[in-house]
Amino acid sequence: MIENKIIDGKTVAAAIEARIKIQAEELLGNRGITPGLAVVLVGTDPASATYVRSKGKACARLGFYSATHTLPEETTEGELLALIAELNSDPRVHGILVQSPMPKHINPDTVVLAIDPRKDVDGFHPANVGRLVIGLPSPEPCTPSGVIAMLKHYGIQTRGKRAVVVGRSMLVGKPLANLLLRKGEGGDAIVTVAHSAAGDLGSITRQADILVAAIGRPGYITANMVKPGAVVIDVGINRVDDPTTEKGYRIVGDVDFDAVAPVASAITPVPGGVGLMTIAMLMNNTLRSAQGAFD
Ligand code: NDP
Repeated sequence: MIENKIIDGKTVAAAIEARIKIQAEELLGNRGITPGLAVVLVGTDPASATYVRSKGKACARLGFYSATHTLPEETTEGELLALIAELNSDPRVHGILVQSPMPKHINPDTVVLAIDPRKDVDGFHPANVGRLVIGLPSPEPCTPSGVIAMLKHYGIQTRGKRAVVVGRSMLVGKPLANLLLRKGEGGDAIVTVAHSAAGDLGSITRQADILVAAIGRPGYITANMVKPGAVVIDVGINRVDDPTTEKGYRIVGDVDFDAVAPVASAITPVPGGVGLMTIAMLMNNTLRSAQGAFD
C-alpha cells in the first residue's frame, strides 16, 4: 500500500535490513559464516568519511564483521592495490568497497579491476557489469537495485510497463535500465534511456508509466513532463543554496516534487527516498556474497 503517494525510502530500507538480519543469523547458525565488509577510505574528504562511518554502523546493526581501512591522501596506487590483494584473500571479508572519490593520482578503473569480482559489492567490476547484462547472478549496483527494491516493496508492476530512465551513467542510469529490462519480477519493462542529447525530453518522459530521473539537475523534471498517474522515482541528490536553513543549503532531487506529486500516482521524496536505499543494498550484496551467490 502506498500511503499519500509517497514511496518511502526509510520504510523500504528498514524492511530490507530486517530481512538481511534474519538471513545473516541463519547463515551463522547453519554454516558458521558471518558476512564481512571491508571499506577503504583514501584521504580525508569529510563527506566520504561520513559515508564510511554509516557503512560501519550498518554492519554493527546487522551483526556483520566490519573493517575500515583509512589511508593517507598520499597513499600510492601500488599500496592501495596491495591492500586490496590482502582483502581479496581474507576469508572474513565478503565485500570490498573503496570509497569514491579517490585522490587524483589513483586510477579508479585500476582499483575496480583489482577487486575480486565476487567481493565487488558495488557491482562496478566489468565482469559484474557483463554478468548483469547477460542475466547471471552478480552483485547489483546499489542505487539502481535500491530503486527496483522500492518498486517491489510497494507492489508496483514493471512487467510490460513503459519505463523511461533519464541519465546513462555507469553508476545509475545504465545499470538501472538493465535491471528494468531483465526477465522476471522487477524487470520485463519496456525501457527507454534518455540523456543530454534527447532534444525534446518531455516528449519522451511523458510516455513513461515509470519515470526515473538520474540527471543531477535540481527540479529539472517538471509537471508537464510527466504523464498523469505515472510512478516517479527521483534519484537526484542536489545541493541548492537556502539562506533560510542553518546550513545555508538544502538537498533537492531532479524532480520538481511539489509540482509533480499531484500528477504522479506515486513518487519518491528527496531526501527520504532512493538515497536511503543504497546502504541497505550494499549490505544485501555483502550478505549474498557471504552466502556464495556469486561463486
Ligand atoms: P552523472 O552526471 O554521471 O550522469 C548524469 C546523466 O544525466 C548523464 O547521462 C547526462 O547525459 C544526463 N543529463 C544531464 N543533463 C541532462 C539533460 N538536460 N537532459 C537529459 N539528460 C541529462 O550523474 P549520476 O548518474 O552519477 O547521478 C545522477 C544524480 O543521482 C545526481 O544528482 C547524483 O547526486 C544522484 N545520485 C544519487 C545516489 C543515491 O541516491 N545514493 C547515488 C548516485 C547518484 P550525458 O550522458 O549525455 O552527459
